[in-house]
This record gives sequence, C-alpha cells and structure tokens, in this order.
Amino acid sequence: MRLSTATPTQARPRYFTPCAQCGDALLAPEWSEHVNERCVRHLWTCETCGYQFETTVYLGSK
Ligand SMILES: [Zn+2]
Repeated sequence: MRLSTATPTQARPRYFTPCAQCGDALLAPEWSEHVNERCVRHLWTCETCGYQFETTVYLGSK
C-alpha cells in the first residue's frame, strides 16, 4: 500500500489569480481578449465577493 501525499496536479490549474479584493483564488477568467499576439487581457469575476478586475498578460517570446 502506498500513500501519496503529493497534491494532484490535475486538480489545479497551472496558475491562478487571487482576487484583488478578498484574495480568493480565481481559477478561470470570465472573459479573455487578445489585444495582440503577445498580449492577452483577462476579465476576472470573483464568485466569493463579486469583485471584477482585469489583468493583462504579456506572453514572453521563447
Ligand atoms: Zn473576491
């Protein structure tokens, strides 16, 4: 018998964004907009407190 203490990686996303208001983890953006091929804007809505905010992600070149 083997006990696994590792957190299953499939259960969590690669990253999450904390709510800017209450700090709750937001798993997926409500809405995403590709500003250009290297810039993506995400609109987040917190289910806990209802706060909405935007983040802008710049995709780095490899
Ligand atoms: Zn919140």
